[in-house]
Amino acid sequence: MAEFSPDFKEQVRSRTEIVGLISESLTLIPAGADYKALCPFHDDHSPSMMVYPDRQTYRCWVCQTGGDAFSWVMNRESVGFREALEMLANRAHIEIPKRSQYEVEQAAQKSDVYEVLKWAEGEYHRTFLHSPEAKDARDYVQGRGFTDDTIEQFRLGYQPREFDWLQRKAATQFDRKLLESAQLISPRKNGTGFTDFFVDRVMFPIHDERARTVAFGGRLIPGHPEFGGKYLNSRESPVFHKSRVLFGLNHARDPIKESVGTIVVEGYTDCIALHQAGVRNAVATLGTALTESHVTRLKAFAPRVTLVYDGDKPGLDAANKAVSTLLAQQIDLRVMTLGEKEDPADFVEKHGGEEFQKVADQAPEAWEFKLQREIQTKGASTVDARERVLTEMLTLLARVPGLAGTAREDLILGRLATRLRLNESSIRSHLKKSRSQERSTRVVRVNTADQEAASEQERPKEERIDFYNRPLSKDDKLESEFLECVLTQPNLMEQARQEIGVGDIQNPHLKLLAQLVYDVSELGEIPTFDRVMLETERNELKGLAIWVTEQARQKGIEKKLLDEKSEDGLPVLFRENLDRLKWRREEMSHRSQLEQQSMTGSSEQDALARLKQVSAFHQKRAAKR
Ligand SMILES: [Zn+2]
Repeated sequence: MAEFSPDFKEQVRSRTEIVGLISESLTLIPAGADYKALCPFHDDHSPSMMVYPDRQTYRCWVCQTGGDAFSWVMNRESVGFREALEMLANRAHIEIPKRSQYEVEQAAQKSDVYEVLKWAEGEYHRTFLHSPEAKDARDYVQGRGFTDDTIEQFRLGYQPREFDWLQRKAATQFDRKLLESAQLISPRKNGTGFTDFFVDRVMFPIHDERARTVAFGGRLIPGHPEFGGKYLNSRESPVFHKSRVLFGLNHARDPIKESVGTIVVEGYTDCIALHQAGVRNAVATLGTALTESHVTRLKAFAPRVTLVYDGDKPGLDAANKAVSTLLAQQIDLRVMTLGEKEDPADFVEKHGGEEFQKVADQAPEAWEFKLQREIQTKGASTVDARERVLTEMLTLLARVPGLAGTAREDLILGRLATRLRLNESSIRSHLKKSRSQERSTRVVRVNTADQEAASEQERPKEERIDFYNRPLSKDDKLESEFLECVLTQPNLMEQARQEIGVGDIQNPHLKLLAQLVYDVSELGEIPTFDRVMLETERNELKGLAIWVTEQARQKGIEKKLLDEKSEDGLPVLFRENLDRLKWRREEMSHRSQLEQQSMTGSSEQDALARLKQVSAFHQKRAAKR
């Protein structure tokens, strides 16, 4: 990951005015000293997004998206921090510092890989169009009904049945290492030299959003000897990560922005057929289910994603699975299933693209689809069956962030009540229970997510933190107040550090934010809100920092910190907060000591020692009150 100095980040930040930046794409309505707007990151009908000129931040109080100018560009353009920084630097006419030698080499290597892939695409394409050897490939493609324009647009190609065809063509211009890192050739199994990766296949170039060739898909030609599966995709390479790339997005990008959303199909031939039929907002996944990273990308273009599945059993199972994993995403997720033995290409051939678009527009929301499936499999005739359907649905809904207390929640629960003939208020109390269960399993999930993230470092990660959907516990409030004080009056941090450590903050989200504050402070700097925001590139942490300062503002913390001082000169409010945190720490260590002793036997001496401890603890406690 590229490292820019904090100075450069600060320079860019200070030259970017967030109100001006956001108003380039949204209409801002003045609201006191702040502004509000319709949030572009969820289906917003009343302006839920606030823009705060004083803190140079924005935040949507419904879908919890928020951050600073960098976050805005990252969310809006669906780019990583580095790109956002560069875009804002350009916008502010600030010169971008030169990259380090290592980065230059890395970038050079990548650009060589792009170059060789582009070259291979050209070779495959020319061969497809003109070579006699490619006749069967052309027949197959024509048989699928693809026109010359489509062949041209998607740059379809052909690699003949020779295991060193590409290597010979490349011989004078590219070295073998490069072909290998582009995944165009692979070492022979017997250890003697290399073999072309794709042999005797119709080639479908895969492009990234910026239309660079990043990989290929190859399809067997019917009637030809088979090597490997019907479809073969390039392996992952420095420029190709299949969990991030969507086939066709380079063509679909603008049409998606002009339509209600994206249509996602499972194969590139289906995707091409849809484009040819005029359904130009279609993309395809590459042998994987739609990932979170795909969703993050797509939602920057339009709020709706419609998943299309074949109507057979595997198709329905895949749909069911996708809904379970994606329902928690902040998108308007729809599911469209076709007739049995019908894929999107068949559909548009029979009924045309307009009809397809019409059916897609009417696709049910994901939860509705899920409900229909649950009723189909579990039944709804007995109370027992309906209860089981309900439990399944509520477990799922409990994981949807930002749903609690919204009109959408009312709508869904109302419909659940009607469909399952159950009482709405009992559904509500069920949901409450599911949410608290979800809460206790969530911490575990956040941890594993962090581990996965650590193994996949480069990925610009949009982690959704579920912190806001439920009431805070007493402990959460105590910890939040600590951060509210510190972020409001950062000078307090010096004193705080001597008494309270990051380990005293237990809520996993607040702890991450506290860690940031401590990091800045330990650099010998004052952890002002701005400085803390610059310290992280993680939007979910910036969002949390804004949330914390907003709490502080609503509670009038700033004034309270000025009001009254305790004996040691600290504001009374802060002094009490520190004491309570320290007290809690002591109480916990006391409790764990007791537990340990009760586990490791109990001689008479132990028992005596324990008695002494207990009495000391209670004396201290009494003195405290
Ligand atoms: Zn929002």
